[in-house]
Amino acid sequence: MSDDLLIRGGLVVDGTGAPGREADVAVLGDRIVAIEPRSSRAARRVVDARGLVVAPGLIDIHTHSDFTLPLNPRAESKIRQGVTTEVVGNCGFSAAPALPGRVEMLRQYLASSAPWLEFHESTFAEYVAGFPPTAVNVILQVGHHTLRLMAAGMEERPLTDGERALMTRLLEEGLAAGAWGLSTGLFTAPGGYADAAEIHDLARVLARHNAAYASHIRDEADRVFDAVREAIDVAEATGVHVQIAHLKLSGTDNWGGANRLLDEIQAARRRGVPVDVDAYPYDTATNPLRNLLPRWIMDGGIPAMLERLGRRDVRARLREDIARNGLTNFGRIPSWDVVRVAVAPHLPDHAGRTLGDIARARGVEPFDAVCDFLVTDRGETRILITSMDEPDVREISRTPWVLAGSDANSLAVSGVTGQGKPHPRSYGTHARLLGPYVRDLKLLTLESAVYKTTGGAARALGLVDRGVLHPGFRADVTVFDPSRIADQSTYPDPHRYAIGISMVVVNGEVVIDGGDHTGALPGRVLRRGVDGTPPSTRPRA
Ligand SMILES: [Zn+2]
Repeated sequence: MSDDLLIRGGLVVDGTGAPGREADVAVLGDRIVAIEPRSSRAARRVVDARGLVVAPGLIDIHTHSDFTLPLNPRAESKIRQGVTTEVVGNCGFSAAPALPGRVEMLRQYLASSAPWLEFHESTFAEYVAGFPPTAVNVILQVGHHTLRLMAAGMEERPLTDGERALMTRLLEEGLAAGAWGLSTGLFTAPGGYADAAEIHDLARVLARHNAAYASHIRDEADRVFDAVREAIDVAEATGVHVQIAHLKLSGTDNWGGANRLLDEIQAARRRGVPVDVDAYPYDTATNPLRNLLPRWIMDGGIPAMLERLGRRDVRARLREDIARNGLTNFGRIPSWDVVRVAVAPHLPDHAGRTLGDIARARGVEPFDAVCDFLVTDRGETRILITSMDEPDVREISRTPWVLAGSDANSLAVSGVTGQGKPHPRSYGTHARLLGPYVRDLKLLTLESAVYKTTGGAARALGLVDRGVLHPGFRADVTVFDPSRIADQSTYPDPHRYAIGISMVVVNGEVVIDGGDHTGALPGRVLRRGVDGTPPSTRPRA
C-alpha cells in the first residue's frame, strides 16, 4: 500500500520548538504516518521540499473569521499564510445564539464587525450544524456580549437572577454543541457592564464542563495592569484556562511598559496559573469607532447612542470625559490623524482617510467630525488606530511564550470581503512573524516563531492531535520558503496576499498547491471533548 503524499527533503520544524531537522513527511488519509530522513516509502504524490520548511499547519488562536467564513469559505487571507485552524467567536462576539425577537438587535450590534454577514434566528447547536464547509478547521466559542444581549439587551445594570439563569443555560447549550468555551469583551458594552462576580459565575460553569475562557480584557490602556490581574484572577479562582487576547499597551502614557506587563503574567504562569497570551505584530489596532467613546454613550442601544450623539450637551460631556481620561480602551493619542476609517458601510468612499483629514476638509473640530461621522454611518464605522509603541509590540511578539493571534477576519482580495481598507493583519500576521521578524529583524528564531502558532497554541487549547508534526497526528501541514515568506498587505493597500507559502494541507487534503488555492474545503468544526480538552487546574482553596 502506498501513502497519499510524501513531502521530501524539507527542513522539518515540528512545532515543539525543537531545532529543525531534514526529514520526509508521509501522509495517508487525514493522518501523518511517518517522519523520517530519506524515506523509502511509496506515495501517490511526492513533493520536493528541498530548501523549504515543513511545519505543522498554523493555528490562529484569536480570530473573528466567524464573520467572514460563510462569505469566504476558502479562507483566502489565512490559508495563504499557512493557517489551517482558526479560533473564532472572540472578544465576546458570536453570531449565535440568536433568540426570537433579538436577531435584529444582534445584527445591528455586530454590524461594525460583520457588516456583510446575514443573521438568522438560531440556537448555538443549529449554528454549529449550519456552519459551512471551509478550507480551515474552526474552533467556536460562545460570546458573552451575545449572551448578555439575549438576556438583557444593552442595559447598563446588574442582571436579575432570571437573566443570569438564561445566560448560563445558553452557555451550557453552546458547550454541549461543541463550543470550546466562552469569550468576553469587557472593554465595551454590554459585556463591560458585567462585574467580576458575573464573570466568575460563568467561569465556574466553564470549569464544570472542562471548557475554556478567552478575554479581551477590560482595558488595554491606562488600566491595563488591573485588567490583566482581573483575567489572571479568573484562572486562579476557578482553575479555568484563561487566554488573554491581543496583549498590548495603548495610549502614549503607557508606552514602554511591555516588560513589566509580561513579567506580571509570567509570574502567574510560574505559580501554575493556567493563563496564556496572544498578540499580533502591529502597532495599530482596529475597532468600531464608537468603542473609543465612554461606555455610557451606548446605554440602551445603538439608536439611543445615535440620538445622543446629535446633542450639543452630550458632545460637551464626551469631550470633557475624553480630555480627563483619554479615549476608552485606547488612552491618549497624539491627534485624530492616527485614527483612520477602515470600513464605513454607509460612507464607503471615506475608507482609508483619517478623521483628522475629514475634519479639516469639512472645516470642523475633529471631535465634531467624529460624532457626525458616527451618526451618518449609523454607528457602524470601523477604524484603525495607531495607539501602540513599536518597541512594545516587538517585545511582546518576540517573547517565546506569547502566542500568535491575528485578531482578524479571513478575507479575500475579490468578492464581498475585499471591500474597504481593513487592518493588514488579516493577510499578514503569521507571514510577518515567520518572515520579517525572524529573517530581517532577527527578533526570534524560526523554531520559536513556528512554536507560537502551532505547538504552543495547541497546548493552550488542549488539542489532542494537531499543532505538532508527529506520526499519528492529523495531517495539517504548511510548507514555506524561509527566505521569501513575507506579508505584503499594507494600511493603504491591505488586500494583498502573503508570499512564500508553497503548500498547505488540511486534514490530509491539499488546499494550497504551488501557491494556488485548489478550492478544496476540507476543514472541520473541531469539538471540545473530541478534538481536545482545554487545560485547567484545581482552583485555589
Ligand atoms: Zn478583541
